Amino acid sequence: MNPHVPLDATHDPALRSWVASANDGATDFPIQNLPYARARRAGSDEAWRIVVAIGDLALDLAAAVQTTDHTDAQAAALAPLARGDLNAFMARGPADWQLVRASLSRALATGSPVEAALAPCLIAQSALEFALPCTVGDYTDFYTGIHHATTVGKLFRPDNPLLPNYQWVPIGYHGRASSIGVSGQTVRRPAGQTMPPGSTTPQFGPCKRLDYELELGLLVGTANALGEPVPIEQAESHLFGVVLLNDWSARDVQAWEYQPLGPFLAKNFATTVSPWVVTMAALAPFRVPFTRPEGDPQPLPYLDSAANRAAGAIDIALEVQLETSAMANAGEPPVTLSTSRWPDAAYWTAAQLVAHHTVGGCNLQAGDLLGTGTLSGPSPDQAGSLLELSMGGKAPVTLPNGEQRTFLADGDRVVLRGRCTASGAVGLGFGDCSGRVAG
Ligand code: MN
Repeated sequence: MNPHVPLDATHDPALRSWVASANDGATDFPIQNLPYARARRAGSDEAWRIVVAIGDLALDLAAAVQTTDHTDAQAAALAPLARGDLNAFMARGPADWQLVRASLSRALATGSPVEAALAPCLIAQSALEFALPCTVGDYTDFYTGIHHATTVGKLFRPDNPLLPNYQWVPIGYHGRASSIGVSGQTVRRPAGQTMPPGSTTPQFGPCKRLDYELELGLLVGTANALGEPVPIEQAESHLFGVVLLNDWSARDVQAWEYQPLGPFLAKNFATTVSPWVVTMAALAPFRVPFTRPEGDPQPLPYLDSAANRAAGAIDIALEVQLETSAMANAGEPPVTLSTSRWPDAAYWTAAQLVAHHTVGGCNLQAGDLLGTGTLSGPSPDQAGSLLELSMGGKAPVTLPNGEQRTFLADGDRVVLRGRCTASGAVGLGFGDCSGRVAG
């Protein structure tokens, strides 16, 4: 159980909504989830507003707040949501997040006295277009997937796959925030420098090894002051929620540029996130212990806490799907390329990433995004990138329709999915994180 978000009435598995589609057991958005997005009617020039998913509908908070009376505390917490500013809401902190979650849960539950008032504030999700859920000021991508790091390390450095710092330092790099886009976007294949094998002069041209990375993104809520590290015991109270994240990667560019300072242009042309922010509160029922393989070093004290050991990990089942343009033209559904689970893939927890990021005094701000790194499971078929699935391009993946892929082709659409299940809890999900390669 999350020490910062104890289970409460909003997690009650018996809770049902007066929105029927929230109760079918299969939806990503039961009343126990209540994720936030920024949206407007598709094709309109309406202002972006904050919406909350319930079943296959979305509650428009700008409209909803005007339908009922609120306490002063509720009104203050709801004000940034009503004006479409998720950053300002996230910055207010866990007490306000919990206040609004409890209010939404009561308002959308069966028997709610405000059903008739709120019903006109619901919009079909299929009628919406989405923006990024918040302004992302800074983006950091970690490298917590130890199976990914080992497999990729073998491809780039056969005799030295996992560098000695990996088991001690949550490895990461500062990424590019301006090129983060929301699900549904089209990604242009980047051009860049590459060094063909056996050559001594680089080539310039379109990336030939375009890839996806299956990741989660952690959204920072409350800031810490410059020079004031966040102790691991308080780390999670700074995190607002989780999104799916596709860290598009140009592998041929990466191989040539990554030494000595790490990824640069291979990663800065596009990153796609899912529109719905699933809150840390909603994920409380899916907590699992953080463990290390026997014989591995234990984390240094600033990366260790009793709460982190007991329940620092969150069990999210992840999936990558691919739809080629031939499949789309034939009306065939996307195929699953791989599945994995966050706790099986990651060497470090969310709390450890916050504690490490700030330990030297770096200040995190509301809306900062921390990528987990590629979350590949322990077996080769659980790999979260084509680089791994195709063994560095040597072993093409054959799709059900006979097409083959080593890396992404123009027109390919990549869809990431995430789902949480646990006994005694209502399952919930993240919606789609989808992006298509132009062409
Ligand atoms: Mn990455």
